[in-house]
Amino acid sequence: MDNKIKIIEDYFNELLPDAKCELIYNKDYEFLIAVMLSAQCTDKKVNSVTPILFIKYPTIDSLKNANINDIENIIKPLGLFKNKAKNIIKIANLLADEFNNILPSNKEDLIKFPGVGNKTANVVRAEIFKIPEFPVDTHVKRVSLRLDLTKSEDVDTIEKDLKRIFKKENWIKLHHQFIHFGRYYCKAINPSCKNCKLTKICKYNAKP
Ligand code: SF4
Repeated sequence: MDNKIKIIEDYFNELLPDAKCELIYNKDYEFLIAVMLSAQCTDKKVNSVTPILFIKYPTIDSLKNANINDIENIIKPLGLFKNKAKNIIKIANLLADEFNNILPSNKEDLIKFPGVGNKTANVVRAEIFKIPEFPVDTHVKRVSLRLDLTKSEDVDTIEKDLKRIFKKENWIKLHHQFIHFGRYYCKAINPSCKNCKLTKICKYNAKP
C-alpha cells in the first residue's frame, strides 16, 4: 500500500500541483453559502450567480432581511432554488442570532446551518480554517473506488478510509487533487485512461 500511495501522490503532484477550491468568494460566510448552493450543481454555475447575489446583498444583515422571491430569482439557474433560497436567509439569521456574525469552525456548530451536512462542514473547515479534513464528494468517491482505496460506497466510511491511508498534513491538498482529477480526468463517463499513469493500480474495467 505504501508504494501505491506514493505513486498516487507523486502523480497528483505532477498533474495537479495547484489544485484548489474553484468556488469564488470574498467572505467566510459567502463560502458557506456557496458550498450549500453547490449541492447537485456545478461550481461553475454557482460562480455565475454568487457575485450577483453578494453584490446585491453585501452583508449578513442584508441577506437576513432579503426578499425571498428576489433570492429565488437570482439563484434559479442552480436548481432546488426554493429550498436553497430559504437556506440562505436561515443561514444569515443563524449567523446573526447565534454566532454574532462570525462563522464557527467546529463541526457541531456548522451542521446547525440548514443545507449543511458533514461534507459541507468539512469543506468549510478545510478551506476557511485550514483544519485537516478529507471531504468526500462524488468525484472523491469515484476516484477512491476506482483506485481501490476503499471498498465502501458510503461517503463517511470512504472519508475514514482516506484519512487512515493518507498523512494528515496532505489531506486538504489531496482532497482538491482528487476532486480535480475526478472532474477533469477520471470522469464518470469516458475517463481519460489513455494518458493516465495510474492504470496499473486502477481497477476500473475500462482501463486500456
Ligand atoms: S486509469 Fe482511468 S479510471 Fe483509472 S484512475 Fe486513471 S483515468 Fe481514472
